[in-house]
Amino acid sequence: MTRSERKCPICRKPVVAEHSPFCSSRCRDRDLLKWLDDGYALPGPPAPPDIASDE
Ligand SMILES: [Zn+2]
Repeated sequence: MTRSERKCPICRKPVVAEHSPFCSSRCRDRDLLKWLDDGYALPGPPAPPDIASDE
């Protein structure tokens, strides 16, 4: 249909070749931070068991 115009996955603005596949270095940083946040911020299971309360 339309020409294959790539868009920034962060903010949906047209991609700038210099910062491909993002529109700016700022969005690239944001994506990187998001990625790191997903991969490294949680060293273990995020949900502790809520059934061990035996008071
Ligand atoms: Zn962007």
